[in-house]
Amino acid sequence: MSVLPDNSPDQPLPVVVVGAGAAGLMAALFAARAGADVTLLEGGKKPGLKILASGGGRCNVLPSETQLSDFFTHGSEKAMRNVLRSWPLDAVTRFFTDDLGIPLKTEASGKVFPRSDSARDVLQCLLDACGAAGVRLVTRAKVHAATQVDANTWQLRLADRPALYARQVILATGGLSLPKSGSDGTGWRVTTQLGHTLTPRFPALVPLTISEPTFRALAGVSIPATLEVRQHNKLIGREVGDILFTHRGLSGPAILQVSRHLACDGGLERQLTMHFGEVDWREQLADGRGGRTVAMAIRPHLPRRLADALIERAGVPPETRLAGLKKPARKALMQQLERCPVAVNGTEGYRTAEVTAGGIPLTEVQLKTLESRVAPGLFLCGELLDVTGRLGGYNFLWAWVSGRRAGQAAAKRLLDTAG
Ligand SMILES: Cc1cc2nc3c(=O)[nH]c(=O)nc-3n(C[C@H](O)[C@H](O)[C@H](O)COP(=O)(O)OP(=O)(O)OC[C@H]3O[C@@H](n4cnc5c(N)ncnc54)[C@H](O)[C@@H]3O)c2cc1C
Repeated sequence: MSVLPDNSPDQPLPVVVVGAGAAGLMAALFAARAGADVTLLEGGKKPGLKILASGGGRCNVLPSETQLSDFFTHGSEKAMRNVLRSWPLDAVTRFFTDDLGIPLKTEASGKVFPRSDSARDVLQCLLDACGAAGVRLVTRAKVHAATQVDANTWQLRLADRPALYARQVILATGGLSLPKSGSDGTGWRVTTQLGHTLTPRFPALVPLTISEPTFRALAGVSIPATLEVRQHNKLIGREVGDILFTHRGLSGPAILQVSRHLACDGGLERQLTMHFGEVDWREQLADGRGGRTVAMAIRPHLPRRLADALIERAGVPPETRLAGLKKPARKALMQQLERCPVAVNGTEGYRTAEVTAGGIPLTEVQLKTLESRVAPGLFLCGELLDVTGRLGGYNFLWAWVSGRRAGQAAAKRLLDTAG
């Protein structure tokens, strides 16, 4: 790690990147490769902690396919596409394999991981590339405020250190999720002090909480399900995948994917329903041959505890023979199996959320450069901006692409003004 070089209002550092996460490392690397002298400030003791924690320590570095609907913004999809298209997925993939030298593998789920299954390798290769490009990394350098001294100079105020001066500043301080990794919202405080606004923000890709004891008693049960979220009977979200019952509520990939529909403002008024398993329940309940009972029709297809909980929820005795099943009882069972309503009462919050949805609106940056329209000379990238991806490597894709764009643009601005 480097020490801060001398600087002053008369001799500002050329490019300062704030935040050494995914977006900041990429911004620093591409600014340095474009010829700028780059200082990368990290508030914590170590860079890239979220990269290390990602994908269960394996780092789902990219998706294998992408389309616009894999991303969410409160603003214009066209604006988001503009940035995403600046570095197409196959070129980003080649960058990781050929430039950084990280062999990758695509799993059946479509997620791309380093072949070594090691997030540490991804971080180390990024740090090595930054080092080779001449990036100066300074840790324990937390920025609390930024002020524009004049058209060409920024003052950054740091905790326990003298103020620092910079020509171009790139903010890559992340969102609010996993605060112990260093992203605690300071970056957003800095930008709102400068006049930026924020869209509504909420935890996304987050486990949901429920209070119903019948479901909470199922902690540990995992099963494929089809989840649907409705608002006033209109379908607004659908996911197929595994769910996991927990002591607090529900988790698993499919739950994380739909969570943003319920975690947003007013989201708890929406209805979440689950279709369990991968069988035709109507057919199962219609087959009353040989004195089959409700329990015999359901238990073979679901984990035993879940099967019994659903039968109990339907209010039907498990030993009821299917041949004698009354219409209301059949309807109640079908509802539990195919459109089981779940009363979600909240989320596990930023502590466990993978990302924060919302942020600085894309209308407040120049899309070609990611330079702030509110504070020229300041560039913004990563989770700080109002773009959120699905589970599956899409959030890193956004961080890599937006970081590169901001880094290249800040360097170009520096070199243009110097020349
Ligand atoms: C547990 C977990 C697993 C995840 N797994 C995946 C995955 O497998 N695939 C995927 O695509 N996405 C994953 N994500 C999401 C992904 O990690 C984020 O989308 C991505 O890291 C955002 O990058 P960023 O650079 O914008 O922010 P961050 O990675 O949060 O980096 C911000 C950096 O800025 C620093 N910082 C903050 N404030 C200041 C300040 N004021 N001064 C100086 N430094 C500051 C922080 O310490 C941090 O190092 C995961 C997230 C979590 C929490």
